[in-house]
Amino acid sequence: MTRFGILKHRAKLQEQYLWTQVDFKSEGEDDLSNKALKAATKLKGCGQFLIFRNYYTIDQVKLEKFHVCGQHLLCPMCAGIRAARSMKRYLDRIHELMRQKRGLKPVLITLTVKNGEDLEERYNHLTSSFRTLLSRYRDYKKKGWGFNQFCKIDGAFYTTEYTYNDKTKQWHPHIHIFALLNEWIDQEELAETWHDITLDSYIVDIRRVKKTKEHGYSKAVAEVCKYALKFSDLSLENTWEAFLTLKGKRLTGSFGSMHGVKIPDKATDDMPLEELPYLEMFYRFVFDKKSYYNLEITKDVKPQTKE
Ligand SMILES: [Zn+2]
Repeated sequence: MTRFGILKHRAKLQEQYLWTQVDFKSEGEDDLSNKALKAATKLKGCGQFLIFRNYYTIDQVKLEKFHVCGQHLLCPMCAGIRAARSMKRYLDRIHELMRQKRGLKPVLITLTVKNGEDLEERYNHLTSSFRTLLSRYRDYKKKGWGFNQFCKIDGAFYTTEYTYNDKTKQWHPHIHIFALLNEWIDQEELAETWHDITLDSYIVDIRRVKKTKEHGYSKAVAEVCKYALKFSDLSLENTWEAFLTLKGKRLTGSFGSMHGVKIPDKATDDMPLEELPYLEMFYRFVFDKKSYYNLEITKDVKPQTKE
């Protein structure tokens, strides 16, 4: 509940910023003002109320209802929920693949291009470079053409991330990849390949992922699944700029043996199959210096007894 409160708090600040970008005198003539109005209205409704079911007999709490705005690049609520959902799917697939094929080596790879002031131009450069790398990967896998170190990947998923440096006023675009390797990658050689493609960056970082007793692989997976924009590091203004630039663009994906993992769209949880008694708990968001969700109504629901 605390986490939801923090996410919605930031969403609320973003919404307030957007209202300042709306020109109410423009009467719908100003395109940017219209976009701000639309986004702010959606944000306002997102997660205003949350309804949970507390299945006390099995000690599980499920999210039953939640009105989402679906603006993942703008709304920390929606981004957070999506990140949690994709994490679960990818972790399942990783475990499945590692069971089937012993000896796969999990690693985190980061690919970077040079920083720049123009986010859109940098976005295009990063994604087209990465697409080239992926098509070389597929050429090798399908036709045995042109081996490079990247082809040692059995399967992987990735996210593009953009951070912003306030001092230099530059965006820093990079791609995080969680990969399962058939063989260890020669980092220097991969850096050469990457520079051949980007012409401006040798920066390739590869780190082994160790399984921990407590978290398994989930920490490393979380690093890739987290949102494209780290909201806490970005000003409200930059978040808005990035949203306008990146909206509708493809920022995540998977390939090789990890290809085809589907991330469900719905934000709510699956309910237990059997009918169990639960407490329905209705929360309302309260905006304050320290925002929180207030439990407004609790309803005791018992399963219908069969005749
Ligand atoms: Zn939202």
